[in-house]
Amino acid sequence: MRIVIGSIQCEGNSLTPIHTKFEDFDYAVGEAMYEKVQVMDYLKEHQCEIVPTIYAHALPGGAVVKDDFLRLAKELVDAIPKDGIDGVWLYLHGAMCVEEIGSGDTYLLRMVREKIGYDIPVSVAMDFHADNTDEIVDLANCVTGFRTAPHCDHKETQLRAMRMLFECIEKKILPRPQLARANVVICGDAVQTSLEPLKGIMEMAEDLERTIPGMMCVQVFNGQPWIDEPYMGPNIIVTHETDEKIAKNCAEKIASKFYEVRHEFKFLVEAVEPDEAIELAINAEEEQVFLSDSGDNTTAGAAGDNAFMINRLKKAKAKNVLIAGIADAAACETCYQAELGETLTLKVGGSLDENSETTVITGKLIHKGDILSYTGGNAGPSATLECEDMTVVVTKNRAAMCRPDIFESIDLDYSGFKIVVVKLGYLFPELEANAKRAILAFTPGSSTERLEDMHMKKIRRPMFPLDDDFM
Ligand SMILES: [Zn+2]
Repeated sequence: MRIVIGSIQCEGNSLTPIHTKFEDFDYAVGEAMYEKVQVMDYLKEHQCEIVPTIYAHALPGGAVVKDDFLRLAKELVDAIPKDGIDGVWLYLHGAMCVEEIGSGDTYLLRMVREKIGYDIPVSVAMDFHADNTDEIVDLANCVTGFRTAPHCDHKETQLRAMRMLFECIEKKILPRPQLARANVVICGDAVQTSLEPLKGIMEMAEDLERTIPGMMCVQVFNGQPWIDEPYMGPNIIVTHETDEKIAKNCAEKIASKFYEVRHEFKFLVEAVEPDEAIELAINAEEEQVFLSDSGDNTTAGAAGDNAFMINRLKKAKAKNVLIAGIADAAACETCYQAELGETLTLKVGGSLDENSETTVITGKLIHKGDILSYTGGNAGPSATLECEDMTVVVTKNRAAMCRPDIFESIDLDYSGFKIVVVKLGYLFPELEANAKRAILAFTPGSSTERLEDMHMKKIRRPMFPLDDDFM
């Protein structure tokens, strides 16, 4: 069997003014992509001939620059032979925004079909936060995704998509998946698959997948709310071997369930206004409290350059604080020109998003060096400043300090700080494992947790929570 593999991923956010560029992608071409995907053992076990294309994965961000996306998409598609292949496996995010194009995932799949036609199966693995377009199900034969949020089933998902591709090839079938939508938007941080009401929905999907003969995949996608498009929000994609009607019914059943339980979705972490979050953290009995600056969450595509929390913490006279990341290229450059141990006064913040606050910090430069990226690559230079009441990490590029190994990459031990401010929503599992307490602050920004603050123009209506009682 000759199998094509490829992956382009960037979770989009259409509210942020920043753009995602080619340089922002962790990028590997040809056989170099083998170590980036988790299906290689499976393919080798099955003695497949592998046709690698490209792997490109960027930190969530604003729309990808059109030419940069087209360059990546063209590179992937050019590497696919026109004939002599048995199947195509793609690992996408499902919520990629591209300048002037909209859904990058849909556009890429269209390009793939233009190249190979419709007689060869295409199987796609995606993120749980995929905002799928209607067209996705006409372009792919199998669609699956993560079933955990926070995500910890990357490998299983990739393998499931690969197994489904093999099934298509062995059984000589070309399934037509079906999609249904729920007009219920639940912000990422109120959606965790291990807790109700989503837990019940995930179990319902699993039951249907397991018990209906010929069922290949019943996939729930929560979507993510920061894309102002009619296809934003929860979507359910069901792949049945042959019966489109069964698949459609099944998808609709789950979509109605979302509507039924819409009032049960609540923030599953402590979530309060910023000043209250700071007060709670200062007075907490716990040795350490993580504060999420949720409106400037780089893992949801925000700029990561807002000094809002620094200003609020200063005002509240908080002590022993670690600001785990603020992006400011000019401030970082100034640090690189200085010697370790020097005291510097820097203006930080507001360099990427004009709505972000700025601030001035004075502190001793204690570290300079590259910081690990969200995808495990290199996110570029960073500098750490020890100020009177807070230690601040300034990065040249946007970064996401979402795992302990990212702190370690810049020799930063966060264990001694009373308050650790991160530009995240809920904590990533690796960070949460050591967190004594985590509080999400409803800070402003392009990853705001409140749909009413997003001022969406293109999303479909009615849509809960903007509208209610419409079904
Ligand atoms: Zn996700």
